[in-house]
This record gives sequence, C-alpha cells and structure tokens, in this order.
Amino acid sequence: MSLREQFSGWNPRLWAGWRPNGVGEQKPNHYRDMVRVAWANRGHPRYAYDVLTKGACDGCALGVAGLHDWTIDGVHLCTTRLNLLELNTADAFDPVLLSDVAPLRQRTGGQLRALGRLGHPMRRRRGERGFRRVSWDEALGVLAAGLRDAPPERTALYLTSRGITNETYYVAAKAARALGIASIDSAARVCHAPSTVGLRQTIGVAATTCSLQDVIEAPLVVLWGTNPANNQPVFMKYLYLARRKGCRVVVVNPFVEPGLERYWVPSNVESALFGTRMSDLHVPVRPGGDVALANAVLQRLIARGAVDRAFVDAHTEGFAEAEAAVAGQDPDHLLALAGIDRSTLESFVDELVRAGGAVHVWSMGITHHRDSADGVRAIVNLALAQGGVGRDGVGLMPIRGHSGVQGGAEMGAYATALPGGVPVDAEHAAALGEQWGFPVPGRPGLTAPEMVEAAGRGELDVLWMSGGNFLDVLPDPPAVEAALGRVPLRVHQDVVLTTQMLVDGDDVVLLPVATRYEQEGGGTETTTERRIVFSPEIPRQVGEARSEWRLFADVATRVRPELRASFSWPTNAALRAEVAEVVPLYAGIETLAATGDSVQWGGRHLAADGAFPTPSGRGRFTALVPAERRLPDGAFVVSTRRGKQFNSMVQSQVDPLTGAGRDAVLIDADDAAALGLSAGDPVMLRSDVGAFAGTVALSRLPTRTLQVHWPEGNVLIAGSPDRREPASKVPDYNAVVTLERRDPTPGQRPSSPPG
Ligand code: SF4
Repeated sequence: MSLREQFSGWNPRLWAGWRPNGVGEQKPNHYRDMVRVAWANRGHPRYAYDVLTKGACDGCALGVAGLHDWTIDGVHLCTTRLNLLELNTADAFDPVLLSDVAPLRQRTGGQLRALGRLGHPMRRRRGERGFRRVSWDEALGVLAAGLRDAPPERTALYLTSRGITNETYYVAAKAARALGIASIDSAARVCHAPSTVGLRQTIGVAATTCSLQDVIEAPLVVLWGTNPANNQPVFMKYLYLARRKGCRVVVVNPFVEPGLERYWVPSNVESALFGTRMSDLHVPVRPGGDVALANAVLQRLIARGAVDRAFVDAHTEGFAEAEAAVAGQDPDHLLALAGIDRSTLESFVDELVRAGGAVHVWSMGITHHRDSADGVRAIVNLALAQGGVGRDGVGLMPIRGHSGVQGGAEMGAYATALPGGVPVDAEHAAALGEQWGFPVPGRPGLTAPEMVEAAGRGELDVLWMSGGNFLDVLPDPPAVEAALGRVPLRVHQDVVLTTQMLVDGDDVVLLPVATRYEQEGGGTETTTERRIVFSPEIPRQVGEARSEWRLFADVATRVRPELRASFSWPTNAALRAEVAEVVPLYAGIETLAATGDSVQWGGRHLAADGAFPTPSGRGRFTALVPAERRLPDGAFVVSTRRGKQFNSMVQSQVDPLTGAGRDAVLIDADDAAALGLSAGDPVMLRSDVGAFAGTVALSRLPTRTLQVHWPEGNVLIAGSPDRREPASKVPDYNAVVTLERRDPTPGQRPSSPPG
C-alpha cells in the first residue's frame, strides 16, 4: 500500500472507535510485542534479521518470504512469527541438563523450550535417571537396528509441521516406504484431514480452490469455525483491505471472537489508529450444528430462487438428491440443531444472495467434530449452489495453521496418501515403486491416533517422531503417556526439548536437527493458496544438529545399504528435481532458488470455469442429514479453543484478544448466572475421561456450551475410535461435561498449561 493509499479512502463507518490504537481496550499491543521480541533475540540480532528478511515464515501457512508475500504490497509480519524467532536464534543447552529427567518433568513445554536448542544426540535406557550424550553413530545405529529388527507393521513414523520443509517430508515418505513402513503420518492428520476427505469426494481435489487475492476481491467472506485474528494474523490485513473495497464478513462460530469483531492492523495507518470493524454478522451456531445450519441455508437459497441453476446444471451432479434431502427436513428442527433463530438465518442468506457467492474459510471449528467431513461437504454444497468455485472473488479455503501441513500430505508423509496426494492402493503403490526402484506398501498405514492406540496395545516396536508432541496434541494425555511408555524404542528428533521425550521407555533416543533455515540447501513449504515457496539456507550450526532430509536418507541406507543410490542427492536442488518428477503437481519446484521464488500449483483457481478434477468433471453435491445430539440434563458441551499460541505452543498465558487465562472456562453470562457463578469463580469440569480445574470467564456463547483452551482441555477429550470422524480418523475435540463449583484447594489447582 502506497503512502497515498495509507492516508486516503478512510471509512469511519468501519472504525472500531475513536481511541487512538484502541488504548485501554482488550487487544494485542503489537508494538510492545516487537520490542520484547527484539530483546529476546538480542544474542543473535543479525541472524534474527536474516531469518525475517530472507526466510519463508515457519509459522502459519498464509505464506511469506522475507517480509513480502504475493498478495499485498508492503510488509507482511505478525507476532506469531516474531515469537517463533527465538527458536531460530537460541543456542544449544548443556546436555548435562538432561542427566536427570525428574526436575525437567516439573517444567511446562514453554519452560523446556526456553532452555534452548537440543544440540546433541542423547540416549536413555529404562531405569536410568536421565539421558547421556552419545555419538551420532551410536544414536543412528540404535535406530537402524530397531528398524531392521522390527516388522514394518510394528513401526510408525510421525512428523509434525514444525517448520519441516517439503524436501524433508518427501525423503521421510520415501525412506518409510523403502523400509516397508506404511504407518507414516503427519500433522495434517489432526488438522485438516476431514477437509481432505470432504473436498476430494466433492470437488476432486483436497486444497484451497482460490487464492488469497480472492479474499481481497471477495464481495463476501464467510468464516466458519476459524479465528484468523489469532492463528493467521496477517489475514486480518487482507480482510481490512477487502473491507475498504466493500467486502462483507459473516462469522459462523459459537463464540463472538473479539478479534473478528474489531481489529487493529498495525501496519495500516487507518486501522492502527481507529481499529476496524471486521464483521457484519455473527451466526452463533452451536458446536456440531454446522451441517444443520448449512442445510437450512440451502433450503432458503432454493426457496428464494438464489441457486445458480446454470452453473449447477452445467458443472455439478447430485443437486436433485441434495435438494430432496433438505426438502424433507423440518426447518424448525434444523434451526434448533444449529441453535440459531430464523432472523439470523435469514440475515445470513441475505448476505449470500446479495453477494452471489463467497470465499468460505474454515478451520478447526469445522474439522474437529465427529461428523466433520460432513461439515466440509455442507460448506461445499453452499459454494456449488452459488457457482462459487473457480472464479475471482469466491472459493473454498480450508485455512492452514502450520506452514507444512499442505506439503506434508502432498509429499506423501501421510498414512492415507502417497506423494502427490494419490490414494494408497496396490495400483498406485506399484507405479510409485517403479519410479523409486523398490516395492512400496500398497495399503494405508496407521494414522496418528491409531499409532498411539497400537502403542497402548503393545503392537509397536519402534516409534520414530520428527517434532510433534502427542502428549499435547492428542486427546486423553494420561492414556497417551501410558501408550508411549510401552514402545520398546522411541526416537525423537527435534530442535528443542518436549515433554514427550521425558516419558520413560525401554530405550529413548533424542536426535538434534536443524531448523528449516539452517537446513542444507534451503527448502520449500506449500502455503494455503497452494504456493510452493522457497526459503534459502541461512547458515548456522547449533551443536551437532543435522539437516533432516539428509538424516532420513542416512537412516534408510543404514538399514538398506543396497538402496544408497535412491537416497543420494548431491544437493537439495537435486532432491527438488526428483520431487518435480515424482509429483508432477509440483512442477517448477526444481527452479526455485532464492527468497521470493515460488510457484503456485493449479494456478489462481482450481476447478476454473467449472471444470472439476473429478471422474465426471463435475462438482458433486452431497445429500446430508445432520446428526442428532441429545445433551443430558444439566450437562454442557465443551469445545476446545486457541489462545495466543502457535498450534500447541502457548505463546502467552493470557490471550490478548479475549483477556482469558489458560485455565479460563468460557461460559455464557446467563448460564453462569443460573448457576450462581461469577467471573473468576473456580469450577471443575468432568467428562467421561477426565477433569479440568478452571476459572469462570463470562462470555457470549450458545446456552449450555463452554470453551476451554487447547491443548489443556485435552484431559476432557476421549481418544477412543468411536469419538473420531470415521474416514479421516480425526478426534472429536469436544466433550459432554458436568460443571460444578470447586474449592480452590491445593489439590484442585487450575489445570496447568503444557505449552
Ligand atoms: S500470518 Fe502466518 S505466514 Fe504471515 S507472518 Fe504471521 S505466522 Fe507467518
């Protein structure tokens, strides 16, 4: 945005208020945060500067290289990225710290990260007080021997998206298959796997159909169960620019997220000064009521003659069945399931009709439910009904929280997909095996939750993890801890210490690895808009940390030396050339070499002009029946929410947007009053698997619903298979709970933050 544009076109009707920079309001103080981050990185200011100005952000998947993206002029930077900077500038801690794990177990994840970087390979056998430093040769020898001895079906490999590049995912996916291991999975599982399932079945491709530019050009943006103000902060800048052009915004979410009501975009003078009203309509859907809501909306679009019949006839199939399905559903019952009134529904439909299509954005509020794939299909139904795919200013956008989620699945680090996102079956495995030169397992492997389940049953001999922390991410942490402790060999490679590394085991090995910036030859990530973005190597050696793509190759060839040629790339660029061959979707990745280089697979729009990549070439409507839910008398539904955090890494004990502490139990003020509860009262939530000691935070929420922060709230969430979305295996991160006042006795302290 030019200086002239910064000071022109101001629209006081969008202002949040007259107080300069919202002084006195509950809101983030971006400028103070920047000063704090500068201080925290004072040990290596030059390196921090290089990471910010040359690297592709290792935060969320909006995507930026250096300080500039491909959507807006001007600076693209947020405090999430700044807070992550410390991980990239920290020095290695003294390995003697690990000689006794007992005191380390008293620390939170954040306190463990604050120790600094994991710099040396470490090993701990059962019965030993702590870890001892070992050579790389010993550490990799232990891992290779374990992999050699264990049947592949008793071995699992999991990677999280902690800055992991496409190149590392690809080599990990190839190494796993070379060793016969089908059970490789990544953070894409517990994030957007239901989106993958729902989108592939309906539009033929599991990715955002539009580009971020379409958000700025959209007449309407609908935010379903997502809070970019927290999780993708620069998205708020896009929304601000869109609203300057007249874009309307509807928020479909149980909670009125304050950051979606008004936000101060720090790099836009008008918004920084007066704030911006970021939404026009809040639709307070009940948790799990999305399918009912979308069906009610579809009924009304049909009744009002607002369906794009020409598009539907020319480019879709299944509309008659979907129409018949919603025609048979009682509108009042749908509204009751959705928890909204008729006038709110009509206002939502008015917005859609006026706009003639929207960019539909969603994330964990849609995907973390038992019927989440149906939630995605329901949103697709609305988009198809309005011809809202494949043209400017509209689209389907499962917005990603990690910079590596999209790429992880597309590189084949996924239990249910091979590189290119192709299904795991005998035919595709054979074709890939032909290319790679060794047999590839033709069956899907264990997903992340299933790995832990198998571990708990004693069916895993080796669990090899790159980053991640199952103790934080998966439901029912006590059960996860018990399961991890049963695996004879666990190998954790990471840049920092995490709580799961401290779980006892027969043999636990820690491997120090390089960050994406330190990685030999640089690497790429894939953003929400399918843009493959290059991040150059910014050289730095921390302890004995190694580049992960080299590491996976090394382990594969230690176990199968005869495959050395398949895992020997002279450079990272040579590896990218192979990726381009094996994954044609990624053609162009081999040309990326400098900051700002990128290639967007599929172009600005997928399904452009209604040409869907489905077998029939048509987008597919789904006839959906919303799930019925009965809440026992006196019970509440609790959902898990995010505060100021990057995925499970808590960055602040108080959410600057809501003012809520990590132990907050968000409850509607009327529900609280009915129970005689006031703000700050200590309460206990109990589900069928655990209890959460928290503190009342009065909010506006649908009646008999609560929210607690994730991952702390995972103690309430069941991990059993019947509580997962059946196709994607994603846990339902909601629970039915009772709520009671508790005495603030020492035995009932607020649930402590893991992050
Ligand atoms: S919005 Fe996302 S991609 Fe952009 S700087 Fe922040 S964390 Fe990085």
